Amino acid sequence: MKKIGALEAGGTKMVLAVYDEQGNELERLTVPTLTPEETMPGMIDFFRRHEVDALGVGSFGPLDLDENSPTYGNITSTPKLAWKDYPLLKNLLDGRDIPAGIDTDVNAAIIAEAELGAAQGCENAVYVTVGTGIGGGVYVNGKTAHGLLHPEVGHMLLRPRADDPIPHGVCPYHDGCLEGLAAGPAIGARIGGDAKNLPDDHPVFELEAHYLAQMCVNLIVTVSPQKIVLGGGVMQRENILPMVRKETARLLNGYVQSPMITENIDEYIVAPRLFPVSGLVGSYLIGKRALEKT
Ligand code: ADP
Ligand code: ZN
Repeated sequence: MKKIGALEAGGTKMVLAVYDEQGNELERLTVPTLTPEETMPGMIDFFRRHEVDALGVGSFGPLDLDENSPTYGNITSTPKLAWKDYPLLKNLLDGRDIPAGIDTDVNAAIIAEAELGAAQGCENAVYVTVGTGIGGGVYVNGKTAHGLLHPEVGHMLLRPRADDPIPHGVCPYHDGCLEGLAAGPAIGARIGGDAKNLPDDHPVFELEAHYLAQMCVNLIVTVSPQKIVLGGGVMQRENILPMVRKETARLLNGYVQSPMITENIDEYIVAPRLFPVSGLVGSYLIGKRALEKT
């Protein structure tokens, strides 16, 4: 029996697992993300101990995903400074020559949702996580999009609404980007507290839905996904999703003539089916694909 190792590398925690080829999870380990010196040895040991035959990684980024680059699999310009320019994939392999692959955490999530979850059967789909930050994975013609680097989605520029008390948002890089206007900390900045503790009918969620709808419109008119999957902590507030659907249709104003939008938007902008393990399952699928290629 071949074993496939999977790592979902996040800014606060690392989730590691071992799967068999049928996708049964054999063991899982979660460790806090500290410095590489503190966190890596235990992870290397976990995959060595299980003698995995292949490895798949879904990681926070930005990442170097150019397979011809000498720094392929490195974390690049992250604000998590201890991990900046860190050779994550190379060091995880620790000298072993096994099939391996890496992608962003959100690309891993859309791979999983497209193969096994809410976007099953779609060749084109997008997964966006709305949490402490906002990140999007883009799946085009059955593969995740890598281009110049890889899509970010979270830093697309939006049009601030006139009644927004923080129209510039809170992103240190951009004036009025999606993450700065609509990630959890932006909601927190408007209310002077944690969005988690608000009542469902607080008006800040209607503004939130408006910005997420602007994002959906931008995604629809650029990558034409067959499904938009919205996950992450903020989306656990279940009344946001229906507002996003309604506002997306309103902003599109009948321009995109697909029944998915005009009639079935409830099945078009959806919650993930594999949450909270979309990224981990996607990492396993990345490892499995690498194994199948050999
Ligand atoms: P991370 O992005 O760090 O992986 P999460 O996806 O859990 O973590 O997102 C955390 C963010 O989501 C925080 O900013 C928090 O305020 C917000 N959040 C979590 N639960 C809710 C909720 N039920 N309603 C609104 N915001 C929430
Ligand atoms: Zn930004």
